[in-house]
Amino acid sequence: MTLLKSWVESANSPETQFPLNNLPYGVFVTADDEAHCCVAIGDMVLDLAVLEDDGVISVTDEPVFDLPFLNEFMDAGKPAWDALRARLIDLLSADGDDTLRGDKELQSVAMAPRVDAAMEMPFVVAEYTDFYAGMQHAKNMGSILRGSPDLPANWLHIPIGYNGRASSVVVSGTEIRRPLGQTKAPDAEVPSFGPSKRLDIELELGAVVGTGSTLGQPVSVAQADEMIFGYVLLNDWSARDIQGWEYQPLGPFQGKAFGTTISPWVVTAAALEPFRTATPPREKELLPYLNEEKPGLYDISLSVTMQPEGADRATTLTQTNYSRMYYSAAQQLCHHSIGGCAMNSGDLLGSGTISGPDPSEFGSLLELSWAGKKPFTLDTGETRSFIEDGDTLTLKGEARGDGYKIGFGECAGKILPALETPFK
Ligand code: CA
Repeated sequence: MTLLKSWVESANSPETQFPLNNLPYGVFVTADDEAHCCVAIGDMVLDLAVLEDDGVISVTDEPVFDLPFLNEFMDAGKPAWDALRARLIDLLSADGDDTLRGDKELQSVAMAPRVDAAMEMPFVVAEYTDFYAGMQHAKNMGSILRGSPDLPANWLHIPIGYNGRASSVVVSGTEIRRPLGQTKAPDAEVPSFGPSKRLDIELELGAVVGTGSTLGQPVSVAQADEMIFGYVLLNDWSARDIQGWEYQPLGPFQGKAFGTTISPWVVTAAALEPFRTATPPREKELLPYLNEEKPGLYDISLSVTMQPEGADRATTLTQTNYSRMYYSAAQQLCHHSIGGCAMNSGDLLGSGTISGPDPSEFGSLLELSWAGKKPFTLDTGETRSFIEDGDTLTLKGEARGDGYKIGFGECAGKILPALETPFK
């Protein structure tokens, strides 16, 4: 696949994250202070509510874009997503339909510089499920927490997950307050209460479920693949000391519930299609319901930077790739439904922390600093094992094509000091 040329010149730069091939969906605040659905094209955002109101595009009988969320459009299903993508490519391509290209007045109301656009949450998160599907991460966690890299007995057979919180999923740029909680040091007799001292990130990709399923009715991997609307960058903020004390036997709870940040742009599965890549060889044969008919992962380069308060530059902490995962989002979604659990439009599935085999590819600070035993040095000369107040952590991701790239924008969050302890 090569670059699709657009009459929006900035979309043709090999440096832009948003060429015509991408067309990610988001929600932005208009000049009239309303929230509308939009797509990014080069340096601009295109207001889909304006185009829909003018009859230039149409999805269903009712408007779906004059809304502060993408859920109505997502719920319209894959044929509607494919039809709108084809229509937008026609409207924005260098030699396509001239309804927008030839109408400067329409352009002036329907397009705005992306740099000025305040982005909101792109969709209402119905429910949030977090998985544990990266093998290197699982081995590292085993080594750090239990003294052995051996995987749990179920790991090679089941995409392990837990039900997280939708209420604390926020869009990039939202500040995150250091959580208070209950912790217990290994040598302490009793637990104590206070701010987390081991605040961490998890580098993940989030799969956005576009169309739901029926209660009691499992979906296949192939059906699950068609239900996924797109993907966002996802930082599953984690308080390791709270998590370490609470997680047995039912898994993470408050250590993960205080914040999850996603990027404002949902990159569609359609845009990522040329970048499909297979899951790694199976170390144990999967039960047939989890087998994939086509490559389930994508070749997406991912990175994380950290910038302390007042620092003039950010330090790259890790660089890895989504193709490191052991299970795909379609396998996770299939498994999620297999007992009859209904999935809904707007469900968000975290991939699990993405770590590669080399330490430069580890996707959490717990792994990068090996639980504080190997602090790392930032470009500013400061050292870190975990996040300090005022630090900004930024995830980035892109799939690289021939002369173009498909970017996700940024998934950034700054840590605020904990509240004064309200309880003793
Ligand atoms: Ca996670």
